[in-house]
Amino acid sequence: MSQSLDEIKSALQRAIERAEQTKERGKVAAYIPELAKADPQKAGIAVTLANGETISAGDCNQQTTIQSVSKVFTLALALGTVGDRLWSRVGREPSGSAFDSILQLEHENGVPRNPFVNAGAIVVTDSILTSYQPKEALAQIVSFVRALAEDETIHIDKAVAMSETQTGHRNRALAHYLASHGNLRDEVDLTLGVYFHQCALSMSCVQLSRAGRFLAFGGGLGPQNGQMVSAKRAKRIAAIMLTCGHYDGSGDFAYRVGVPAKSGVSGMILAVVPHIASIAVWSPGLNKHGNSLIGTQMLEQVVNELDWSIF
Ligand code: GLN
Repeated sequence: MSQSLDEIKSALQRAIERAEQTKERGKVAAYIPELAKADPQKAGIAVTLANGETISAGDCNQQTTIQSVSKVFTLALALGTVGDRLWSRVGREPSGSAFDSILQLEHENGVPRNPFVNAGAIVVTDSILTSYQPKEALAQIVSFVRALAEDETIHIDKAVAMSETQTGHRNRALAHYLASHGNLRDEVDLTLGVYFHQCALSMSCVQLSRAGRFLAFGGGLGPQNGQMVSAKRAKRIAAIMLTCGHYDGSGDFAYRVGVPAKSGVSGMILAVVPHIASIAVWSPGLNKHGNSLIGTQMLEQVVNELDWSIF
């Protein structure tokens, strides 16, 4: 890495300043009523480097639920639990369709395209449930994320989990459809209960950038810290983030930003600059693909200024 901490800090501040001045903010997700309360003016960014140093700007300490960014953590856990057998139940190809689409699932006999669309993530969570009871699985997910971030305060936002449990009709439809194809081992309500709660993990950009280090630094938390997953697994998860992390907006994101990343409907994005940094951004307004509009703009600006694209 050729930049000083000061140069990185000013790049982050410039991104926040531009974010504050940008009028078009996107639309806050409203299909989960609790998420609709978010303020689209908010914008935060945090970068954690290989030496463990975290640099941040804007609303970087405000917690929000990570939503689909959680799919990265459950994929890592599922691959550790069931290994490559997971790939007989879910594919590894970009979907080109919306995160909650059911269309492809019918054409492809109940095997979701990838682990980051909702149907795929529900299968991933279900695969963890083949080894654990629902409460135990959830405890595994929470303690894994806490260990990755080295932060025991990380918790689940129960109000958001409850809000999605009450209104998650599409996910329920997807789960029943998977079950009808024999691609759900546990009961629909149990698998979805765990899935809704993992999506409601509440974190700030600072905490999320720390939890994402294992993806940037070969499965470990940095040179002095322990290995969390194998280097091979971390590399493969990052590959799927690059190709599928932004649903039908993945190509545009790769073109504009050029690093592996995973978005969530709360407006969070976790991005990985291999061997250099783990970045988390947050701004609640979304573009038409359900990815943070201002978050993408901030990442585009910072990654381009610091010349961190992988290409
Ligand atoms: N909990 C959300 C859902 O399942 C997550 C979707 C997302 O972040 N794209 O609809």
